[in-house]
Amino acid sequence: MTLATIVRGLPGFELIGLAALDSELAVRALRCRSSPFSRRMQLRQLDESHAESRERFAIGAHRRVGTGMRWRVRRAPMLRPSMLRCFSSPAYFAVLPPVHVFPMAKFRQSAAMLREHSIAAVIDPGTISDADLMRVHTPDYAASLQTGHYNAATALKLGLPWHPTINVRARAATAGTLAAARAAFEDGLAANLAGGTHHAFPDRGEGFCVFNDVAVAVRALKRDEPVLQVMVVDLDAHQGNGTNFIFAGDPNVLTYSVHVGRNYPSVKVPGSVDVPLSRYTSADEYFDRLESTLPGAIERFEPDLVFYNAGVDVHVDDKFGQMKLSTSDMRRRDEFAIDATRRWGIPTVLVYGGGYNRTPGMTGWLHVQSVHVAASRWTLERGERS
Ligand SMILES: [Zn+2]
Repeated sequence: MTLATIVRGLPGFELIGLAALDSELAVRALRCRSSPFSRRMQLRQLDESHAESRERFAIGAHRRVGTGMRWRVRRAPMLRPSMLRCFSSPAYFAVLPPVHVFPMAKFRQSAAMLREHSIAAVIDPGTISDADLMRVHTPDYAASLQTGHYNAATALKLGLPWHPTINVRARAATAGTLAAARAAFEDGLAANLAGGTHHAFPDRGEGFCVFNDVAVAVRALKRDEPVLQVMVVDLDAHQGNGTNFIFAGDPNVLTYSVHVGRNYPSVKVPGSVDVPLSRYTSADEYFDRLESTLPGAIERFEPDLVFYNAGVDVHVDDKFGQMKLSTSDMRRRDEFAIDATRRWGIPTVLVYGGGYNRTPGMTGWLHVQSVHVAASRWTLERGERS
């Protein structure tokens, strides 16, 4: 009896990921989780599993079976979504001075395009609670966003003049990343139509990043599942110094980043796996480095959840990225990153990251392309499962 068979016998439950398909794919999906020998042992152990084991699989927590292998079974949602679930709201907009380099319109613009073309379902995530926010950020910093009295470091480094909507937008966008993570556990893939604000530190904002949405989401999820293993795959042109700082020394969070070495932030905080590139590196060199490092990092760490920062400032026409990927190179990048996690059935959350394209409207369009890749993969998986 395979795990898929066991799970099929449990009304209202499904195995997340490729392992739900059939025994052949179950073996494939689990290949990274154990050596061939222990895998055989573990599958036999599953064959002999009794009613109590099934109950343990079914309660929704992930359990270790034997050594080094985890099964994740969750209650299937009552209503299956018909499209990739994405999170956004009218609050994803903050007022900036009339001439400002940050393309604030990209959030509303991309959400509207995704809706208009029926690429994804766009859902309002509400706002993040104080309790969730304070698991990462200091009370003083959070309060300063409400009053507008930025601390000195934030005033110097954030780059967004204060307005009440700065706080409202950042809280809504942080809620979107947490909501997308919860959706990804049910659907395999989900996206926040913002987020990836990886330069934010617990006590200050930097580089247009107010709150560290991914860190807040990780800590909120870990409240329920303390041993959750999370990987951050950061392919924004810049290194996620704030995220690296927050998770430094945490064995259950792996940060992986491909970025331009000599670019903002000038002082890097080391991550778990850093792949620095030279400025304006060729697409060939970029894919060489990405493709030779990302799959191995995923297979060694065996994450339960991946946050994919699909920053679009890697585009050739970006003002700050100092990279030169074309639009089609970026599609290839998104496909590679998403396939690298989904081939193992790992729940994956796409977040926007940065983008400052010289062509008006292009930044939002590039984000739409990333979400379109995720939506296409999600539709493909759904077809394979049904
Ligand atoms: Zn960036």
